[in-house]
Amino acid sequence: MPRTAVISDIHANLHALSAVIEDVQAEQCTDIVCLGDVVGYNAYPRECLDYIRSLNCPVVKGNHDEEVLHEEHYTRMNPVARQAMEWTRAQLSDEDLTWLSRLQYQRIVRSQFTMVHSGLDQPKAWNYIFNANDATGSFQKQFSMLCFHGHTHAPKVFVWDGHRAVDYSYLLEGLNENGVAEVPLTPSVKHFINVGSVGQPRDGDPRACYAIYDSDAQTVLFKRVEYDVTGAQQAILSVGLPEYLAERLEKGM
Ligand code: ZN
Repeated sequence: MPRTAVISDIHANLHALSAVIEDVQAEQCTDIVCLGDVVGYNAYPRECLDYIRSLNCPVVKGNHDEEVLHEEHYTRMNPVARQAMEWTRAQLSDEDLTWLSRLQYQRIVRSQFTMVHSGLDQPKAWNYIFNANDATGSFQKQFSMLCFHGHTHAPKVFVWDGHRAVDYSYLLEGLNENGVAEVPLTPSVKHFINVGSVGQPRDGDPRACYAIYDSDAQTVLFKRVEYDVTGAQQAILSVGLPEYLAERLEKGM
């Protein structure tokens, strides 16, 4: 039974990644894909990158994976982002940077689904898709029934009704109460699904978030996973990253 774990926006949070991987194994997932932003914000960029590379799984590039390569852009960032980016770059080897630079912006996996970090219409523009209106352009470039994305760090479900994008995120209403929510996929309807963030959730729930695509059952199961938030915060402070990055983890914002 093919069950694909879809993870995104790990952001160098090894505590969250380890907890999610343990859950992925308990769920008996058969494979895993990663929607980018492996690095940035948290204290373990090299360890998270090593882990993702060791999986030898499909990965697409996120904006942090790209920005870390371009030191000439750092001066344009706000002070918190700049400090985090400079620190992150110093942790990575030339070989790590080369690996990141070779990631594709979008991929189709087993002719079943597409993966992209932000949107399919301008994947290199890193647009944020918060609502159905924002999702319209991406649907026009989506040629599979299912596409997974990340980037906003908030789980969402959008569908194309033949004329326009519609927000079906009410299907996720039980997610934060129950820790799980199952979304049935409608045959012949395009779905554009944000799987949330492993390492820095921003939807008010500090627990890690990821999804499992069951291609036989045609469902996407969203899951919240508890992890050692305090440990991740202490790691941020102990390497001298901005305090704000530690604070936001416990608020899930
Ligand atoms: Zn991100």
